[in-house]
Amino acid sequence: MSELVSSAILLRRIAYGDDDLILTLFSLQRGKIAAIAKHAKSSRKRFGGVLELFSLLSVACRSGRRGGLPVLVEAELKEPFPGIRADFRKTAFASYWAEMVTQWSEEGQAVAPLFQLLAFVLAALDRGESSDEALSILFQMRFLTLCGLCPNLHHCCVCHTAVDEIRQTTASFNLPRGGLACQDCGPPQGEGMTLSRGTIKQLQWVAEGDLRKAARIRFSPAALREARTFLEAFVPYHLHKEPRSLRILQQIRG
Ligand SMILES: [Zn+2]
Repeated sequence: MSELVSSAILLRRIAYGDDDLILTLFSLQRGKIAAIAKHAKSSRKRFGGVLELFSLLSVACRSGRRGGLPVLVEAELKEPFPGIRADFRKTAFASYWAEMVTQWSEEGQAVAPLFQLLAFVLAALDRGESSDEALSILFQMRFLTLCGLCPNLHHCCVCHTAVDEIRQTTASFNLPRGGLACQDCGPPQGEGMTLSRGTIKQLQWVAEGDLRKAARIRFSPAALREARTFLEAFVPYHLHKEPRSLRILQQIRG
C-alpha cells in the first residue's frame, strides 16, 4: 500500500505485543484498512491519546516493510465524540454499527456514502439530540440500501401487489425472500413476523432521500419497537452472521 492520507473512523483497536496497537480504520479514501500504530501504548505523546474507538481522525499511513501491515505515522483528532464513550448504552450502539461496517466492507474499497453515513450517526449519537433507537433504525436501513440488501417494502415479494393495495393493516415479512408478503402469499394471520402499515411507511422514508431530513422522522414507541425487532432479525440473516455487539446491545436493553 502506498502512502495514504485520509479521514478515517476508528472501528477496532487490538493490543499487539507490549506496545503496539493494530487498528481497523474505515477511511474515506480507501474504505476499510488495517494499520499498526507502533509504540502507541508506551508513548502517549506519539499519537497524543487520540486513538480512541469511534473517533473521527485524519490519518497518514505508509506501506509496511516486507509486506507487513501499513504503519500509522500520523493521527490527528477531528471529532472525538466523547459523549459516546462516556455512556455504555451509546457505546453499545456504536459498536454494533462499527461491527456491521467491519463485517460487510471489503478491505481497500472506498464507499464514501457509507463513510458519511457512519460519521453522521456517530455525531448525532454523541450529541444526543435524536433517540438512540431511531438513529439505529436510520443507520441499519441506509446501510442495507448502500449494500444492495435493502428489504423490499414496496410490494409483495411473491405476487408483486403494491403495498398500498394490500388491504390488511399489517403485512407479514418473508425473511428469506427479503420482502413483504400480502395476505394471500404470506403465512396465516398471527404467524411469522409482521409490520404495520405505518411502520412500513416510516422505514421507507428513513431509507430514502436526504439524510438530515430522514434523521428528523419521529417514531411512535410501537413503531420503534416493531422496526427494531424487524431490523435486528433482518441484518444478521442477510449478513449471514450475528454481530457479537448486537447480542450485547440486546442484553443491555434487558
Ligand atoms: Zn402477494
